[in-house]
Amino acid sequence: MQDIDNLVNLLSLRLPSPIQKLPVDWRPESNLSIYVKRDDLIHPIISGNKWRKLQGHLTRSPQLSKQAHPKHIVSFGGGYSNHLHSLGYCCQKLGIQLHAIVRGNYQLTPTPMLQDIQNWGANIHYVTKLEYQKRHDNDYLEQLGKTYPEALIIPEGGSDKHALEGIANIIEELDPEANNPFDYILCPVASGGTLAGLNQAIYDWKLNAKLVGIAVLKGEGYLEELVEKLQFPDVPKATILHDYHCGGYAKAPDYLKDFCSQFNAQYDIPVEPVYSGKLFYALKQLIESGYFPAQSRILLLHTGGLQGARL
Ligand SMILES: *Cc1c(COP(=O)(O)O)cnc(C)c1O
Repeated sequence: MQDIDNLVNLLSLRLPSPIQKLPVDWRPESNLSIYVKRDDLIHPIISGNKWRKLQGHLTRSPQLSKQAHPKHIVSFGGGYSNHLHSLGYCCQKLGIQLHAIVRGNYQLTPTPMLQDIQNWGANIHYVTKLEYQKRHDNDYLEQLGKTYPEALIIPEGGSDKHALEGIANIIEELDPEANNPFDYILCPVASGGTLAGLNQAIYDWKLNAKLVGIAVLKGEGYLEELVEKLQFPDVPKATILHDYHCGGYAKAPDYLKDFCSQFNAQYDIPVEPVYSGKLFYALKQLIESGYFPAQSRILLLHTGGLQGARL
């Protein structure tokens, strides 16, 4: 099995990621203590939570018990996928051939992300929306398995049960056996893997922290379902708040952009409007509305994604 320390060295990852206090002055009478787990600092290209999930895949896959890493990986995404971008970089560094199945017709106008992964040696297969819809079908996956024998097939966004084991490392880095210092843990939610992994780990470690997911897209009902499918049956449902997607995935109205630039100017924690901007924006709104009881200790997971800010 691929040794995790070896992967961390090969990819020059900063782990464990640091925790930093965020000295906000929103509703000072509440006396809240806010901390940020800086998974964005794990690596400048490998987006924080994408590394966590990928770690679950690279170290737990049964194929990997036989060989150091897979020779091929097949995965899926759109033209702006942070997952494919992170994966493309990792594959180049680890000498793995990536086959990226990309939804849409970007041959003539590849996005900056797609250009990067192409430069890193990925084979990109552009497929129609209709073919892309089959990405979870057993028949389709079986066919892919025949086309790319011995390839590791990783689902869209990297989110599945293997990914959860990688995400659990975030909670383990908080030293949960020794202390349980947080009343709340907040993270952004898109495909649900991060939230499901945190929820599972909080349950496994019997922490009292309340987990709150901030939906970055319009998905009330749908996101809850995704997370529930990923979790093990006994784990209680995680809370997802749907008031902070600011109009939908990758939508950035002026009030959100203004918030991000103000935040970036005031604190030494960079945010972008797709994920972390919405997370911190939600934090501010929640604090100002009195959501958190006085004296609460709150941890935000900064999941990275800053390479996407160039768009
Ligand atoms: C993909 C991504 C997310 C969403 O995580 P999910 O596990 O898909 O919910 C959050 N933040 C960043 C920076 C991402 O790239």
